[in-house]
Amino acid sequence: MKEQGIGTKCVQAGYTPGNGEPRQIPIVQSTTFKYDTSEDMGKLFDLEADGYFYTRLQNPTNDLVAAKIAAMEGGAAGMLTSSGQAANFFALFNICEAGSHIVASSSIYGGTFNLISVTMAKMGIEATFVSPDCTREELDAAFKENTRALFGETIANPALTVLDIEKFADAAHAHGVPLIVDNTFPTPVNCRPIEWGADIVTHSTTKYMDGHGTAVGGAIVDSGNFDWMAHKEKFPGLTTPDESYHGITYAEKFGKAAFITKATAQLMRDLGSIQSPQHAFYLNLGLESLHVRMPRHVENAQAVAEFLAAHPKVKKVSYPGLKGDKYYERALKYMPKGSCGVVSFELEGGRETAGAFMKRLKLAAIETHVADARTCCLNPATSTHRQMSDEQLEAAGVPAGLIRISCGLEDKEDLIADLKQALE
Ligand SMILES: *Cc1c(COP(=O)(O)O)cnc(C)c1O
Repeated sequence: MKEQGIGTKCVQAGYTPGNGEPRQIPIVQSTTFKYDTSEDMGKLFDLEADGYFYTRLQNPTNDLVAAKIAAMEGGAAGMLTSSGQAANFFALFNICEAGSHIVASSSIYGGTFNLISVTMAKMGIEATFVSPDCTREELDAAFKENTRALFGETIANPALTVLDIEKFADAAHAHGVPLIVDNTFPTPVNCRPIEWGADIVTHSTTKYMDGHGTAVGGAIVDSGNFDWMAHKEKFPGLTTPDESYHGITYAEKFGKAAFITKATAQLMRDLGSIQSPQHAFYLNLGLESLHVRMPRHVENAQAVAEFLAAHPKVKKVSYPGLKGDKYYERALKYMPKGSCGVVSFELEGGRETAGAFMKRLKLAAIETHVADARTCCLNPATSTHRQMSDEQLEAAGVPAGLIRISCGLEDKEDLIADLKQALE
């Protein structure tokens, strides 16, 4: 059968109720599951049978929603996590251990940068950061004998750089490791990184997928395409027996589901970062309209970016959909339907002007959030990056006057009128 369109998947993938069953995904609000015999349950503990026994590992509601997201990304298997942070940590830690090394784009979400450069470093996992615009030679030079993954963001939050997914995937594969891509900003509605060679895709579902600012969550999707056995010595966790499950070798027993099965059976079991079934239900409501909402976010952001670019009080605008933007061509290649709803711009006059401007906005609320139905904005210099001096901010590519605006689903004319009165 021809692969269904993304809209059909947003609405229906993952769950096909049987005769007389609930039309909407049931919320299985239960920590535990009952069995008739210990033998039945024992098979689950040995990974010999599919099924549920404790929600810290797996829950039916979560699995239905994860299956939908996996279908949307064109992957083989998926899982939900309690947050986007947990998704990125699990995706990396599933194949890294003390003594491993990661190559990552330097243009990534601040939380992920801290995760890799501070917290994972404490676990003995080192990292080398490369510019998302580095040459292939610079990228190759970053790999080491102990490199186990290459990591980047399709569209980086908040820098709005666009990753050259094909180039990064080729480099990862040439060095025998998978490319892991955080696809939070475009969502699979606007970009499907697996089609361009990415092996594993992660999400902060807190953003557009939920889309209404209701539930923090994350997801991991595995393409099933990376051949772990071909690089046996690099990934012993997948290619040699797991003694905590009676000697199962994930890559042999679970094929395309090996990566997700291991992350569930080991990491979820031991670290317990499950999404609550109630949150998974909210997430699914968001997914049902994602393909309708994304084009509107893009339309609003495009109009706001064009308005700002033409305004004399605005020094600079970054938006991949803007002709002349550094990432315009690359965005056109990887996301021809549009990128996302987030625009960043710099006002003449630094942080005081930015603060005064934001105070005057009526529709755009000041929030540490993006990708919501309601428009919101943030001045990194006075919030997320307030410990940095003007010079440090400039060097980090986040000048003091920079404002990040996440365009919601309101009428674009009203958003522009709000910006206009605040600028004047
Ligand atoms: C927000 C965000 C995260 C972290 O996700 P949480 O759900 O807040 O834990 C990771 N990556 C990107 C690109 C994000 O925007």
